[in-house]
Amino acid sequence: MSFSTDTHQLAQTRIRATLEARDHRFRDLLRARVLAAGGHRLPFSRAVPRRSKLARMERETQLARGQLPGLERATIHAYLDATPGPVHYQRNAHPVGLEAERLIGELEGGHSLLFPSGAGATTALALALLQPGSTVAVADGGYWGTVALLRDELERWGLETIPFDQTGPPPSADLVWLEPCANPLMSFPDLGPAITQAHAAGARVVVDNTVLSPLLLRPLEQGADFVLHSATKILAGHHDALVGVVSCAREDDAARLAAFRTASGIVAAPDPVWLMLRGMKTLAVRVERQSASALELARRLATDTRVERVRYPGLGDPVAARYIRAFGPLLSFDVADAETALQLERSLALIENATSLGGVASTLEARARWEGARVPPGLLRLSVGLEDVEDLWADLDQALAG
Ligand code: PLP
Repeated sequence: MSFSTDTHQLAQTRIRATLEARDHRFRDLLRARVLAAGGHRLPFSRAVPRRSKLARMERETQLARGQLPGLERATIHAYLDATPGPVHYQRNAHPVGLEAERLIGELEGGHSLLFPSGAGATTALALALLQPGSTVAVADGGYWGTVALLRDELERWGLETIPFDQTGPPPSADLVWLEPCANPLMSFPDLGPAITQAHAAGARVVVDNTVLSPLLLRPLEQGADFVLHSATKILAGHHDALVGVVSCAREDDAARLAAFRTASGIVAAPDPVWLMLRGMKTLAVRVERQSASALELARRLATDTRVERVRYPGLGDPVAARYIRAFGPLLSFDVADAETALQLERSLALIENATSLGGVASTLEARARWEGARVPPGLLRLSVGLEDVEDLWADLDQALAG
């Protein structure tokens, strides 16, 4: 697969160099103007400059430190000295988005770009970087919406999808799509060998890291080319913002995606991005607590005779244990059949019978309503939130009793 021709890459490099030079010029002009007016902050500067004495900071510290940027909604910023700046039009970039991309890029160790949803990020990644005739190997049992998008929508534009078992080696394809803690069947790929094998066969690799977040897993460090997040989930964390992220290992991929994003208008607006940034302030504590409660509930469900099967990598998946020290908020378990699953949904008193995952409020649903025969009819997906774990267990216990 050719992601971009040499000529295209050269053009991208030139455009980037021009943009960078222009941005520096813009910042210098703006700084001069702000200083002249007695001000001290650029409207899109980092809220707190990194102190040189603390050159290294833990990721938790990077998240918690400093103030959020102001919620700047303007779609235009005036040119300075007839020079368009980096945020001259919101389809290119906006201050809140730049701040969020910087923060997530630092957490992941790559170049991050925002999109209006996880599905929007998937669409942009596929359309910007693949060609008609490209093949995408997608993990079985991963997010059904990704499969539906790539297969049912994008195959019409010449992509071919190849489902595969991500616990084994990936098949030959242009792009390999992995999903640790796959939603909802919870398989976990052996990332190192899978990525090495995919690269050896000439493929690029995307890891959908929605469930775990960069605090538990950083796939770029395992050699992945791209990390995708539905930031709607644990990154934003409060069921009130739809956002997607792609982090790229290589700058040329990020430049290509950014150019596609501007051209296509698949752009995240400031409001949900600001909510995501606000949510990320508490990401570290949410991830720990939600993982601890999910593990406790998974253990109790696993010994409950009313439950046929529990899927949670924290219950002894040796591969997952080599990559992560906590296993995230998501688990799934099977009850006898679709009828029992429906009965349990209707009996819930605390846990919300709702879709989505990663939020502060626990959610549970029977996935067969969306995924059909792809999942067992009695499969219930549970995303564990911040409620007291004994209250959550009491609710599950009474709902299992019908
Ligand atoms: N990836 C995973 C693992 C998901 O669970 C989801 C949504 O549920 C998506 C991607 C798509 O994200 P969004 O709903 O933000 O478009």
